[in-house]
Amino acid sequence: MKKKLTLPVQIAIALIAGILFGLICYFAKIPQFTTNYLKPFGTIFVNLLKFIVVPVVLLSMIDGIISMGDMKKVGSVGWKTVAYFLVTTAIACVIGLIIANIFNGAGLFPVLQNAEGAEWTGKTTQNFMDTLVAIFPDNMWKAFTNSDMLQVIVIALLLGGGVLAAGEKARMAKDLVGTLYAVIEKVMGFIISLSPIGVFTMMAWVVATKGPDILGSLALVLLAAYIAYFLHAVLVYSMAAKTFAGVNPLTFFKLASPAMIFAFTSTSSAATLPVSEECALKLGAKKDVASFVLPLGATINMDGTAIYQCVATIFLATCSGIHLTIGQMVIIVVTATLASIGTAGTPGAGMIMLAMVLTAMGIDVNMIMIIYGVDRLFDMGRTCLNVTGDISCSLCVTRWESKKAAKANK
Ligand code: ASP
Repeated sequence: MKKKLTLPVQIAIALIAGILFGLICYFAKIPQFTTNYLKPFGTIFVNLLKFIVVPVVLLSMIDGIISMGDMKKVGSVGWKTVAYFLVTTAIACVIGLIIANIFNGAGLFPVLQNAEGAEWTGKTTQNFMDTLVAIFPDNMWKAFTNSDMLQVIVIALLLGGGVLAAGEKARMAKDLVGTLYAVIEKVMGFIISLSPIGVFTMMAWVVATKGPDILGSLALVLLAAYIAYFLHAVLVYSMAAKTFAGVNPLTFFKLASPAMIFAFTSTSSAATLPVSEECALKLGAKKDVASFVLPLGATINMDGTAIYQCVATIFLATCSGIHLTIGQMVIIVVTATLASIGTAGTPGAGMIMLAMVLTAMGIDVNMIMIIYGVDRLFDMGRTCLNVTGDISCSLCVTRWESKKAAKANK
C-alpha cells in the first residue's frame, strides 16, 4: 500500500528540490527562468497567506477573548495567568531582539536588496504619539483592506469585549464567531497544505537569483533563534520556577521533558496538552489551576513564537535593506507579543502570524519565503519553548494561589 507523505516530509523534499533546482539555474546562468515561471506560483501562495491573515487574527482573538469570559469565575487565577504570560512573552521578545541584533551587528545577516528609500516606509512614524494614534481605527473596513494588523487587533479587543459585556444577549454572536473560526481554520489548513509548492518555487527562485551564499545565512538565523530559545528557557523559566514556585531548575526540566520532547516533535502546543498536564501535576501544580492555565497557555502563551518572530523580523528587515531604529524595535516587541497571542497552537501557525509583524513594520511579506522552507526547524524549538512556558506558569500560579489561601485562613 502506498503511504501518503506527511506535510513536513513533503516540505523537506520541496526544500531540498528547490535548493538543487535553484543551484542548477544559478550555475547554468538562467535565473530568469525561475523568476518568470516559478516565482509566480510562489506569489500565488503568498497572496493566499496574506488573504488569510486578517480573518485569522480577527476571529482567533475574538474567540480567545470570549473564552476568557470564564475567567471572571476564576478571577484571581485569570489575571495572574495573563500577567505572567504577558511579562514572560515581552521578555522573550527582548531576548530575541538582543540576540538577533548581536548577529546582525556582527554582519552575519545578509542584505539582499538595497531598496531605495527602504529606511522605514510603514505607516507608523518615529513619533510615539503618532504611532499610538495610528493604532486606533477610524474605519473598520479600512483597517481590513489595508491589513493594518494593530488596528485589526484593537477591533478584535473591542468586539470581543462587547460580546462579553452583552452577556446572554450575545449568544448568537458567540456562536457565530466560533462557527466562522472553525471555517477559517479549515481554509488555513488548506493553504498550509499547499506550502510544498510555495517552498519549492520560492526556494528555487531565491537560490537561483541570490546565489548559494544565502544558504549559510539561513543556518545563522536558525542558530540565532535557538540561542534565544535556550536562554529564555534557562534564564526565565527556571528562575521563575525556582523563585516563585520553589522548584529546583534541574527537577523542573527533568519532569517537564516528556512534554518538551512531545512538543518538539509534534510542533503543536494544542496536541501536547495532555502530556503537559501530566508533567505539570508531577511538578506540583494543582489540578484546577493546571486545567485552566494549560489550555489557555496553549492558545495565547507563545514565547518561542514571539522569539522566532522577533529574530525573523530583524533578519528579513536586513535582507530587505531596511535599518530598524530602537523605537521600531519597541514596536516589534509590542506587535510580536500580540502576534504570538493570536497564534494558534498548531504546526506552522507562528509563521502565518509573522506576516502580521512584517506588515506592521512595513516589510514586504514576500520576504517570508526566504525562511519558509526551514520553518519546521524553527517551529520545533519554538513549540517546545511555548509548552515549557505554560508548565512553568501553572506552577507559579499554583503557589501564588495557595499563599493567598493560607493568608485568608490566618
Ligand atoms: N507550532 C506552534 C505551537 O503549537 C505555534 C507556532 O507555529 O509558532 O505552539
